[in-house]
Amino acid sequence: MSQLPIYLDCHATTPLDERVLLAMLPYFTKHFGNPSSITHAYGWEAEAAVKQAREILADAINCTPEEIVFTSGATEANNLAIKGVAEAYFNTGRHIITVQTEHRAVLDPCAYLETLGFEVTYLTVEKDGLLNLNLLEQAIRPDTILVSVMAANNEIGVLQPIAEIGAICREHQVLFHTDAAQAIAKIPLDVEDMKIDLMSLTAHKVYGPKGIGALYVRRRQPRVRLAAQIQGGGQERGRRSGTLYVPQIVGLAKAVELGLEEIDSESKRQVHLRTKLWQRISQLEGIYLNGHPTKRLSGNLNISVEGVDGSALLLGLQPVTAVSSGSACSSTSTAPSHVLTALGHPESLAYASVRFGIGRFNTEAEINRVAQQAIATIKSLRQAQSLTSSSVTSKL
Ligand SMILES: *Cc1c(COP(=O)(O)O)cnc(C)c1O
Repeated sequence: MSQLPIYLDCHATTPLDERVLLAMLPYFTKHFGNPSSITHAYGWEAEAAVKQAREILADAINCTPEEIVFTSGATEANNLAIKGVAEAYFNTGRHIITVQTEHRAVLDPCAYLETLGFEVTYLTVEKDGLLNLNLLEQAIRPDTILVSVMAANNEIGVLQPIAEIGAICREHQVLFHTDAAQAIAKIPLDVEDMKIDLMSLTAHKVYGPKGIGALYVRRRQPRVRLAAQIQGGGQERGRRSGTLYVPQIVGLAKAVELGLEEIDSESKRQVHLRTKLWQRISQLEGIYLNGHPTKRLSGNLNISVEGVDGSALLLGLQPVTAVSSGSACSSTSTAPSHVLTALGHPESLAYASVRFGIGRFNTEAEINRVAQQAIATIKSLRQAQSLTSSSVTSKL
């Protein structure tokens, strides 16, 4: 078998932690019951596991267990939050505010609502990817019903000032939703302190299984009304029907619990690895950091590289390093992503860009190897490039 490259794409997904898998396993086989079966012990066991998972998640973000709605992931949670609020409040107002650098799972539901007659303001960001709070405050109108701003960006790792945004929204009595898919159990999140009304979570970015997530929905001060987007058996207090996926729910809770236990030490360790990678690669000329230097996820390094072709760079890195580009994920296009475009500075647009996502299982030896290979690849591509351009020039 050929050796797999070093995995540095933890913003796309993370490997399942074996401790999470072990917690999940009994719920596939022995404890397979449906938590909605209230007439026998199989159902009760499953219900007890779901109840415990709900309590763990509630503790993790400082809410009550009833405020957690399980979903298939953050995409569904974002759709439920945005469309669910829009539908429930359309008699109050039809204006929504979000940001240009949001994930597609926020931008696309917003665009869909525009076709139904809602108005959406897409705020720009500063060069470092941070939201300007004055812009946000100016954008709020009497008919604004919802502000949606992500906690941590999936490409450039930038951490938005969630508590400040929450305070502004509360002051103007506008609901505040945050997509915390990248942030949960990586940075502290407290829905009371941060005045968050709705928050999307997912397990697979934090060493849990794919296909499970949750939406936090505030029940008090204010009580958020939400129109269900999936109707049926009335699970999750009617907010999201469908038989609960018990092993995945157990896995989500375990993943978040483990992440929080190790949050400080792991964050320090990843910052150390990231700094090391950046220091090595940025010894070359023409390497630029995308996103704020410190207000970012510990494991995130997003760089633009001058003088090389984007797809050639990725191809060169591929044998050793599994990373993602900052380009639109299309084999035919190396157009920069909407996130890099929104930063609006030329080096993030004109040059090749790479997103390194360092995670729990990466080691210092791996980072050294990646740095070495990235430097070699960039050097050789630049050399080839200058050879071609000089031969072109000599022909002229
Ligand atoms: C991964 C991700 C999503 C989508 O989450 P799924 O659980 O895969 O649906 C949404 N938002 C952000 C910021 C993400 O990183």
